[in-house]
Amino acid sequence: MIIYKHAKDLQEHLQKLKQNERSIGFVPTMGALHNGHLSLIKQSKLNTDITVSSIYVNPVQFNNQDDFKKYPVTLESDILLLEDFCDILFLPEEEDIYPDENSKHKHFEIGDLEKRLEGKYRPGHFQGVCMVVERLLNIIEPTHLFLGQKDYQQSLIIKKLTRLLNKNIAIIISPTVREPNGLAMSSRNLRLNAEEKNRAADLYKSLVEMNAKLQLGNNGVLKNEIRYKLEKKGFKIDYLEIAAAGDLELIDDVKKSAGLIILAAAYLSNVRLIDNLIVTA
Ligand code: AMP
Repeated sequence: MIIYKHAKDLQEHLQKLKQNERSIGFVPTMGALHNGHLSLIKQSKLNTDITVSSIYVNPVQFNNQDDFKKYPVTLESDILLLEDFCDILFLPEEEDIYPDENSKHKHFEIGDLEKRLEGKYRPGHFQGVCMVVERLLNIIEPTHLFLGQKDYQQSLIIKKLTRLLNKNIAIIISPTVREPNGLAMSSRNLRLNAEEKNRAADLYKSLVEMNAKLQLGNNGVLKNEIRYKLEKKGFKIDYLEIAAAGDLELIDDVKKSAGLIILAAAYLSNVRLIDNLIVTA
């Protein structure tokens, strides 16, 4: 694995590879890597000629500075984990991503998708995601982009962004990798102790329960029942919603179960967890 710290050097290297028409798979991350990230790298390895990953904790996408400060950094073990699977690792410095103050204040017309769910509870978050992703895509110009279903709304936003930017990139979304107890793997889980990790799995279990009990007609009562149970277990819920999988329009009154997704975000011991489950008919 070759590690690049400067965009210019990485671009020179990739330029040579592109002359030979090689496909470039890209897996952007914020580090503190786990098997969820690794599953994306492996997907890229299977489907493309060259796999590039990046680690950059993007300050602009954190609406909560405390969350940014506490975001786990485990660079040495990240490099060890990637070594056998990834061809190129990009570790940009801030000046490569945000060369001036203006570059931190761009705006992308994402539309309503940006205001729902995560967008409502993390104002400005998706604009920050778009800023870093635009910059990384401009540097790397990948043919394929690998994202996780864990961040479902983010993957829809990035799809929209690539269309806005007129980039012809194949986007592959991989299923969420979970701990044996069902908890979605996440870098933020490093901030939970063993007992909290056990309890955190209840978030996923509540999605499974909601999926099993979902009915045609109004599901408001079901939503409240599941919310209530989670709150009793110590979760502080931002949202627990049923939505159209295509555009995340919220739906309580279910007409048909196809094309729906259940999404949740909740705090456990001050750690914010998100998860989702595609509704099975
Ligand atoms: P992050 O480092 O959290 O920004 O995530 C980088 C990429 O890994 C994103 O596309 C995430 O959706 C994906 N990812 C994070 N956790 C998981 C997981 N448990 N399973 C699969 N993909 C994941």
